[in-house]
Amino acid sequence: MRYCIVGAGFSGAVIARALAEAGQKVLVIDERGTAGGNCHSERDADTGVMVHVYGPHIFHTGNERVWDYVQKFGDWVPYNHRVQAVAGGRVFSLPVNLLTINQFFNRVMSPDEARAFIAAQAQKIAEPQNFEEQALSMIGPDLYRAFFRGYTRKQWGVEPTELPASILKRLPVRFTYEDSYFAHPHQAMPRDGYTEVVKAILDVPGVEVRLSTRFEDLDESFAHVIFSGPIDRYFNYEFGRLGYRTLDFERFTHKGDFQGTAVLNYCDEDVPFTRITEHKHFAPWERDKFEGSVLYREFSRLCGPEDIPYYPIRQTNEEAMLRKYVERAKATPGVSFVGRLGSYRYLDMDVTIAEALDASDRMIAAIREGQSLPAFFVEPLGA
Ligand code: UDP
Repeated sequence: MRYCIVGAGFSGAVIARALAEAGQKVLVIDERGTAGGNCHSERDADTGVMVHVYGPHIFHTGNERVWDYVQKFGDWVPYNHRVQAVAGGRVFSLPVNLLTINQFFNRVMSPDEARAFIAAQAQKIAEPQNFEEQALSMIGPDLYRAFFRGYTRKQWGVEPTELPASILKRLPVRFTYEDSYFAHPHQAMPRDGYTEVVKAILDVPGVEVRLSTRFEDLDESFAHVIFSGPIDRYFNYEFGRLGYRTLDFERFTHKGDFQGTAVLNYCDEDVPFTRITEHKHFAPWERDKFEGSVLYREFSRLCGPEDIPYYPIRQTNEEAMLRKYVERAKATPGVSFVGRLGSYRYLDMDVTIAEALDASDRMIAAIREGQSLPAFFVEPLGA
């Protein structure tokens, strides 16, 4: 019997390839008509620009195994992601760095002066319990209110006091003028888009890919199912629906260059969208070829039953629901849950690939030893 992998995103593709290379037969299905999951990118019919259809995806990693792995499946062009933010009618550099601090407070401070200045404003909270406490202890109330409070309320639809501190820990605070959004040594864009990379991973003897196919409609028995869709959906939402944020993109075009950068955040709460993405700036090597430009205004809202889940919210009550699903999954033989939706975690692409490579190693070892596969390769509720 062959293995079934549900979802043709990075998790599914990496595991499918590894199993096939180990001599197994694999069917990969996806209910969408495209591979790549939410990383899917395609050329815009009007402008020719490569568009990140499900919002901006910037590949960055410090994991050498992941970096070496992706090199095999396409041409990657170095890309240094920078983000600017509009707040109170002014433009600032993000993540918060020495330029942001000096611009915002209208000062000319050195790194040491700025560090002392921010430390004097920051609240002393030994172990921040939520997003707001984390922000107040890192940057103090003024920068928090200008850049994080409004944006976060728009992005997550709840009070920052109800969100985990881990969301803010994604972003550094720097007392230098370094303005790279990510600190990882490797940052790049796939020259032909993410979908081509995922298709190349899936292009191996032993893997059959069937798009526009729902798991619920399959009529075949499998050696094991690897499910990268939402874990609550697999169990028919029997304990309720895990909360996600979904995104709406308002597409518009412009002649020439609209904003001069790929991502411009809008931090004020009276602006209804969170950011504007100008896709051609993700491809500086071809950007000037295009006369037209295509942009997305990005709006965030609670994910309804028919919407695409993007960000797992993971408030306290959802962790309790997740615990029930995790227990249910561990008591259900024949299926493993992987990836962002399978484990209900806010994962970057590189972490997704790293986890899929690790899961593949462990699956192949277990199959060789004749052992059954676990429900999870990473514990969704932490250690
Ligand atoms: N964030 C914010 N203001 C910004 C950028 C980010 O408040 O201008 C907060 C917000 O809560 C966001 C989180 O920091 O969800 C993580 O930001 P990141 O840029 O990593 O979000 P992503 O690009 O994954 O949506």
